[in-house]
Amino acid sequence: MSVAALDTHPVPACVRSARESFSAVPTAAWDGLETGEVRRLIGELSRLESQVAAHKMAAARVLEKARKAAANGDGPRPGTGTSTGATISFDFGGDRNGADALVNTAQRIEEQTTLIENALAAGVISTKQADLISRALAKLPDDVTAEQRERCEETLLKDAQKLTLKDLRRRAARITEAYRKTVDEVDADEDEILRKKEEAARAKTSFSMWDNNDGTVTGRFTLPEAQGAMLKTALDALAAPHQKVGTVNAATGQMDEIGFGQTYPQRLGHAFATLIEHLPADQLPSNGGVSAVVTVNLDLDTLMGDIKAAGLSDGTRISAGEARRLACSAQIVPMVLNGKPLPLDLGSANRYFNQASRRAMEKRDRGCTTPGCDRDARWTEAHHLNPYAISKTTDIRDGALLCPFHHHRAHDQGWIGRINPDDGHVEWKLPGSDAWQRNHRWRP
Ligand SMILES: [Zn+2]
Ligand SMILES: [Zn+2]
Repeated sequence: MSVAALDTHPVPACVRSARESFSAVPTAAWDGLETGEVRRLIGELSRLESQVAAHKMAAARVLEKARKAAANGDGPRPGTGTSTGATISFDFGGDRNGADALVNTAQRIEEQTTLIENALAAGVISTKQADLISRALAKLPDDVTAEQRERCEETLLKDAQKLTLKDLRRRAARITEAYRKTVDEVDADEDEILRKKEEAARAKTSFSMWDNNDGTVTGRFTLPEAQGAMLKTALDALAAPHQKVGTVNAATGQMDEIGFGQTYPQRLGHAFATLIEHLPADQLPSNGGVSAVVTVNLDLDTLMGDIKAAGLSDGTRISAGEARRLACSAQIVPMVLNGKPLPLDLGSANRYFNQASRRAMEKRDRGCTTPGCDRDARWTEAHHLNPYAISKTTDIRDGALLCPFHHHRAHDQGWIGRINPDDGHVEWKLPGSDAWQRNHRWRP
């Protein structure tokens, strides 16, 4: 194959003039334009991005072919990278994953037809749409003919003009309806596609976490999308924003607008921690005789209010307040050691507020009992008003519902609570106040 002389080849001239055109206009120049015109131009820039991407894909294919030829001892090796993606990312940007994806998409599209590439090069579809359509085509059943494949491709390219990316993905999952005769066949095709996708997702599933040595751990996971959606739904529910987070300020009577939820990721993080504390650990399979239940080891003095750190059964050290809060929640078993080698209390099942007493408390309290809090009962924990009773009773006259945020507060600050002797409702003496207060949100 002959290579055209550089000065007459159209590609260098095109790239040079595009670069020069953009270099000549400062970004500040956008300020003088009408918004309608700006919108139109942003659309045009997006189309330009597609066109540039089509050319990058074509370029990536040239490099990939040269690399393969070099591997067969035929011609020089392009670049020093271990792959075409590595070479491209080395030359600019350093984005190895992005460059690999570009090479993969370029090859997948080339193996299919020229329609997708033409649409991209004409700025009619975006790179994400091109990638989605080419993936859908690659997943067509084995018995598809060339003509049927083309009909699917044309349909998806047309749909891409009017559908969101999410809807296009759904449409692509049922694209065989472009040529199948019955709905049953399309259903079967879609099911087959989904089955393969789920199998691939299970193979990619992983979880890892590591200790940051600063009191936190960081983790990373890959989950099948169904379980991902379940996790997201649970976290979103737990992270539902408080209209008001915080505690009533005794002096002003106003809520302190502080709390655990400044940003959405932070709220999700706290929701994740709450979710973990609510796992039914005692129902999980034990690991070779090792229980899945983490126990809190603490002295009776700590339980009663002393400031003396405690430990979890895996050796993790926690503060006295945190130990008391965990001992209060149903899922963690407190081992009250009291300076002796044998624990006083192994946390028998009836220590916890059982389902009946929990339901009775929900009926009585209706939500977090902290004055001003708007968390309803679904997202609360049962707190023992009398720490002595933790190991002795499941009587609801000893319990009060608190949301996780206020449960932390109650133990950190040593809140004093009681059941009002006259009407049987929960009241608190919050720090800095001598008056009994209650949450009137649920019982005005
Ligand atoms: Zn508690
Ligand atoms: Zn609350």
